[in-house]
Amino acid sequence: MPENIIDLRSDTVTRPTDQMRTAIAQAEVGDDVFGDDPLVKRLQSRTAEMLGKEAAIFMPSGTMTNQIAIRIHCKPGDEFLCENACHIYNFEQGAAAQLSGVVARTLPGRNGLLEPKQFEGLVRREDIHQVRTRLVCLENTHNYGGGRVLPYDDVAEICRWAHENHLKTHLDGARLFNAVVASGIDASRWCEHFDTVSVCFSKGLGAPVGSALAGTREMIEEARRHRKAFGGGMRQAGIIAAGALFALENHVDRLKNDHENAQILSESIRRSNGLTLTHEQVDTNIVFFQVGQPWSDAKKLVTALAERGVWMAASKPHIVRAVTHLDVSDSDVAAAGKILEELSIH
Ligand SMILES: *Cc1c(COP(=O)(O)O)cnc(C)c1O
Repeated sequence: MPENIIDLRSDTVTRPTDQMRTAIAQAEVGDDVFGDDPLVKRLQSRTAEMLGKEAAIFMPSGTMTNQIAIRIHCKPGDEFLCENACHIYNFEQGAAAQLSGVVARTLPGRNGLLEPKQFEGLVRREDIHQVRTRLVCLENTHNYGGGRVLPYDDVAEICRWAHENHLKTHLDGARLFNAVVASGIDASRWCEHFDTVSVCFSKGLGAPVGSALAGTREMIEEARRHRKAFGGGMRQAGIIAAGALFALENHVDRLKNDHENAQILSESIRRSNGLTLTHEQVDTNIVFFQVGQPWSDAKKLVTALAERGVWMAASKPHIVRAVTHLDVSDSDVAAAGKILEELSIH
């Protein structure tokens, strides 16, 4: 095995930097279930401020923030609308059904993008036979859409439609800051269309743990109750909030670098025999590509790459995903691209 591993499996694999570790080591802490942890409180108010919301609450994972958003907007027997390939529907084990008795109605997207007109007529009438339509969930950037940034005007229009129809809106913004940096549109402008927004500190921002849910003060108070019931009440959580706060204050603007590296990687894929970008447009830090001859099988290519010290993920039998992040340097990405091109010759 090569010594220097270039790990492009996900932007969750980042480790805290030395400066972040110092911030963590110096964290003042208290019992956050009693509301005593100063860093958790500072992180929450800073997050709310950046997202333009009244309040925010710190949680252990993005899955928990999304699922608690669903819990506060819906009752058992309700329905939410979302895109076919979104995280909430596909990668959270159907938790909305398991934990909240809520069903999803999925709409087919193009690279994760939905058009406002697809929503027309989707609100069910009040009828004893039917579930009640309550919520729209969008994802930005869209992970399985290839890290695409949703078109801003479509987001605004879909949310306007939702509110006109008395539905709530939730944004899965696990990678919202990638969308902010790529679009030049401020986080609060993206968030003004949504009742609740979740963001992850442990993706591209590079913190070891944590996500936050933001919304009105009332919604976040409700979320605090549910967080306790879901087992997410944490005690001296300032230890991890310190990493998240450091990430929020220092690692947003540098996401631009990850996006440039994703472009460099996609250029290598364009030059490689038998590899085709699944999404011709790469907006942010996620690159999906289809594996044709001579490898044909994604796992085989991933194994060959791993033998050369490059880790990518086979996300489907013929599809590989590579994600750039804080822990891969420009030269790592250039090296990974070169290895990919070399392998594609044989
Ligand atoms: C990573 C991610 C989440 C949260 O996942 P966790 O595993 O709970 O951290 C939510 N939504 C999207 C789009 C994600 O990529």
